[in-house]
Amino acid sequence: MAPEHAPSFQSLEQIPVTHLKRVGPRIAERLDRLGIRTVQDLLFHLPVRYQDRTRLVPIRELRVGEDALVEGEVCEANIAVGRRRSLKVWIGDGPIGGILLRFFHFSPQQVTAFKAGARVRCYGEVRQGPNSLEMVHPEYRLQNDASAETESRLTPIYPSTEGLQQSAWRGLMDQALEWLGHLPPADYLSAEILAPLNLPGLVEALHYLHHPPLETSLTDLQERRHPAFLRLAFEELVAHQVSLRRMRTAQRAVMAPVLAGDGDLRQRLRAALPFRLTPAQERVVSEIAADLLQDRPMQRLLQGDVGAGKTIVAALAALQSLEAGRQTALMAPTELLSEQHHRSLSAWLKPLGVEPLWLAGRHKGRERAELLDAIASGQARLAIGTHALFQDDVEFRDLGLVIIDEQHRFGVHQRMKLREKGGQSGGAPHQLIMTATPIPRSLAMTLYADLDLSVIDSLPPGRTPITTVAVSDTRRDEVISRVLKACEQGRQAYWVCTLIEESEVLECQAAEETARQLSERLPGVGVGLVHGRLKAAEREAVMAGFASGELGLLVATTVIEVGVDVPNASLMIIENPERLGLAQLHQLRGRVGRGPVESHCLLLYHAPLSEVAHERLGIIRSTTSGFEIAERDLLLRGAGEVLGTRQTGSVQFRIADPLRDQSLVPAAQRAADLILAHAPESATPLIARWMGHRENYGQV
Ligand code: ADP
Ligand code: MG
Repeated sequence: MAPEHAPSFQSLEQIPVTHLKRVGPRIAERLDRLGIRTVQDLLFHLPVRYQDRTRLVPIRELRVGEDALVEGEVCEANIAVGRRRSLKVWIGDGPIGGILLRFFHFSPQQVTAFKAGARVRCYGEVRQGPNSLEMVHPEYRLQNDASAETESRLTPIYPSTEGLQQSAWRGLMDQALEWLGHLPPADYLSAEILAPLNLPGLVEALHYLHHPPLETSLTDLQERRHPAFLRLAFEELVAHQVSLRRMRTAQRAVMAPVLAGDGDLRQRLRAALPFRLTPAQERVVSEIAADLLQDRPMQRLLQGDVGAGKTIVAALAALQSLEAGRQTALMAPTELLSEQHHRSLSAWLKPLGVEPLWLAGRHKGRERAELLDAIASGQARLAIGTHALFQDDVEFRDLGLVIIDEQHRFGVHQRMKLREKGGQSGGAPHQLIMTATPIPRSLAMTLYADLDLSVIDSLPPGRTPITTVAVSDTRRDEVISRVLKACEQGRQAYWVCTLIEESEVLECQAAEETARQLSERLPGVGVGLVHGRLKAAEREAVMAGFASGELGLLVATTVIEVGVDVPNASLMIIENPERLGLAQLHQLRGRVGRGPVESHCLLLYHAPLSEVAHERLGIIRSTTSGFEIAERDLLLRGAGEVLGTRQTGSVQFRIADPLRDQSLVPAAQRAADLILAHAPESATPLIARWMGHRENYGQV
């Protein structure tokens, strides 16, 4: 099936992988799992890293942690029966060079093949064993011929799936590259776009990355700074921008209700507030108000650090919708948070004659049916709940606005689905998405190019800074005395128990045990306990007790991460903070520092700390700026993990990294504009090339 015998394929995306040698139904199915169906898909499946098998490393020069190709003579091989049965093979390449190869899975044939004197060439990671250097399960080959050649170029390693070996990938890519020579793929980036960036052409870049020439620097390649990488990363960013823009256009193509109210409710709420909105809040309120007056659905992301005061902004938007005779839905990620919203919004709105409805998981049977009725009949003007609000059986009568709190992870597709919830009076609801995860602007432009962005960039006045210190858990007693002192001074404290081995049950048990111990140790202090497995009514009672000041100490799992708002609480203890990410620590800590007295956060860690944990706690101690923390977090963990895009699948990049490649973003946006304006026919194939077979992606 060499290209010479090619049927009349016009382009690479017409050639199914099954057309390649050694690709039967089983391999095709495995490739399909990775979204690879055509030769073009294959070519755009790029190596994750490279190995250097171009030279043999003398054993005495090996360094722990590095991958290396070594060759030596078997000195001894035997089966060790320790904790785990293993085959141990000692090889040496000179008087002082020796390394141990260790196999946990092996066949009798392997044991006999490693006879003393046999020459072995192997490749693997060098580790420090108890007595010598080791390689565990290296790739190896017994050499008959001592002068076998080394590879002539760096070896690409492909992201793979079960049942596809790297050698199979290399065989496939060799064939695909041959096709590439015959049918160069269309270059959707015109010279006008590419020239100023000084990037290579598509064919050249693909060749380079699949077959990097010998003289390539491994570091350049690994760090993805090479122009060939940038060329493809750039194209991917462009494809992504084009796709988001098309989605945005599609969203704008539907009508939305114009939410023009008389402002009466809003004015009355403002007059009743014990505070004035900050200029930053005023700005975002008017940005949102202007959007709601349009007949196209608002798609706006509201960013504001923990405690920045997003809830009041949401309340004003809800009232604008109410004034215009439309329903509003407010959706929170957890039931606890929805409960908290229900409480604070009820306090604000009931005096105005608006009674928010709360729909929770505990509402079952008749109660649930009645609540659903109130929503469907339009009697409920403001409905608060979790994503359960948008289950199939929930119907709105005339939904004008959906507010989604703390949900930057709410993907494009989930948002698209909300369009259908408008109700009988038609029109897609406006959407406001709120998040306390501050995302640097350039990154936001990449990930949320289909959203408008509003930012509350300052905290309300009168907040006192939080002092954060790390304390070893060997000083637990001192920490308990501090809690006592704070409570004696009329203040309140949180004690947060963190996740143990990802198990909610265990986490709740730990919190129960901690609460029991602390109430023994602190008899005069009312100790409350909240965790995710408590019945909603119990939880509500405890939260109310803490809010009223009746309880001095609230022991909680990380369920209090978002939303809880008790300004008199000025001390927080976080147990095992090393288990949490930066963003989560920041969110948790944001529960204190809301009142006039100085607040403290004690990170009660368990020594020894890993290097990363040490670094994380250092960052948390040194700054309280959510933006700074988010940026450092992004650098530590990478965008995918921080923003949760992998989980939602709403934004996935193959090779671009919106953080690392930030500097390419403005050019990618311009390129997307140019393509949509002057070569709109390229949009669909470009999107297909980069995101084609991923579920729904790019479909509108
Ligand atoms: P977040 O942005 O984290 O959701 P909240 O909306 O919960 O923050 O607000 C945190 C606290 O700040 C609440 O007690 C809220 O009533 C209060 N608050 C909001 N805006 C102001 C303001 N302009 N001045 C004083 N306090 C405010
Ligand atoms: Mg909030």
